[in-house]
Amino acid sequence: MLDRPPDHIIVHHTASPNVSDTSRGHAFALSRQIQRFHMGTRGWDDIGEQLTISRGGYVMEGRAGTLRAIARNELVVGAQSLHHNRHTLGIENEGTYMKDEVPAKLWRSLVETCAWLCTAHNLDPATAIVGHRDYNATDCPGDVLYRRLPRLRREVARRIGSDTGPPEDDDDLDAEASRRSFLAQHRHRGRRHRR
Ligand SMILES: [Zn+2]
Repeated sequence: MLDRPPDHIIVHHTASPNVSDTSRGHAFALSRQIQRFHMGTRGWDDIGEQLTISRGGYVMEGRAGTLRAIARNELVVGAQSLHHNRHTLGIENEGTYMKDEVPAKLWRSLVETCAWLCTAHNLDPATAIVGHRDYNATDCPGDVLYRRLPRLRREVARRIGSDTGPPEDDDDLDAEASRRSFLAQHRHRGRRHRR
């Protein structure tokens, strides 16, 4: 464990099949499969990345000690981005996103996880969230997920309250819509409470 927090969050895809099983059982099986691959086939001492998110949106600890390190504002050094492991935390998102869309459940968990990390480590999502290909010669995290990173930065900023600006493009429309529907529900609840 390093006595310092990560300064960047790296978004990966696992480049595994885009399965339709969104269950918790599948998420755990995925985690064990990554562990076998990284520790058995590659001979590493643990899972390469710190966190894994399944297509069903389950967030799992990869490298042991990650959760404790986040709570202490420190970093468990992974093996997920050549030459950049000592200052970054990696999130593996299940699937292959070269052409396919990112499932809504995975996306919601990714936004929440990045918001949690940015808060825990006092990071600005606008600069802290990067894709694996920003550091290494790789397709990871896929063209589709990589193109979504600006939207991820904005949604995370909004979630942690560091961005109060207006939406910048069409990508924000569904986020805006869900925010409006949340506010509408809230007002609805408020009315019920007053009765
Ligand atoms: Zn990667």
